[in-house]
Formats: sequence, structure tokens, C-alpha cells
Amino acid sequence: MKCHCESGQAFSACCGKYLSGMAAPDATSLMKSRYTAYVLENERYLRETWHPDTRPERIEFEAGIKWLGLSVKRSGTIDSEQATVEFVARFRIRGKGQRLHEKSRFVRVDGRWLYLDGEIFD
Ligand SMILES: [Zn+2]
Repeated sequence: MKCHCESGQAFSACCGKYLSGMAAPDATSLMKSRYTAYVLENERYLRETWHPDTRPERIEFEAGIKWLGLSVKRSGTIDSEQATVEFVARFRIRGKGQRLHEKSRFVRVDGRWLYLDGEIFD
């Protein structure tokens, strides 16, 4: 099975590793694995990789959403513990194609990259 994040790699050699517990080596890998977790509706992983300061109590998945793909636009390193990743995720809901364009901020805590927050563009 090819990975949902469109790396072209097998799921087990790509985001599957991180979903089963391996620490993502950089913010971009974490971001891709979180996209994959949205596709799989893996709430546990999304919460584990969300910074405790901003982590929601519950993650609601939109009923009937179909994720169509992911493009990473650019990634930026602020320092060894902080990074940004700008991406576009495409999805369809109620028959309508849409895109989410976001620049996410990630921080590394105890060797693990975590999602902090994001700026959404129209
Ligand atoms: Zn992947």
C-alpha cells in the first residue's frame, strides 16, 4: 500500500513507522504523518503529536470527508527546536473539492516534534 502522504513510498516505510511509535526525524515528516493520521482518522496519534498547550480535548473528523492529496510548499527551520511547514491539503466534502493551505508551526520537545499551531491562508 502506498503511503497517503504521496511520498511514493510504502505506508509501512513512511508514515506508518511514525504512527506506530517511531519519532519523526523532522517537522516535515511529522506534518506528513499527521496528514496521514487525518486520512486514517487516528485521533490518538493526532493528540500525541499536538503540543499540550494547544491540543484540543477531542478531535472531530468531518463525516464524509475524502482526503485527496498533500503538497508540501516549503519548510523552514527557525532553530534546532522550532520549524514551520507550509502545505496544501486537498479534500472533498459533500461533493465539493476544497483545499486547506496552512503554514504550521512545530516545536521539538524531548526529541519529539509536535504540532503547535498554524496560520491558514485563503
Ligand atoms: Zn507517508
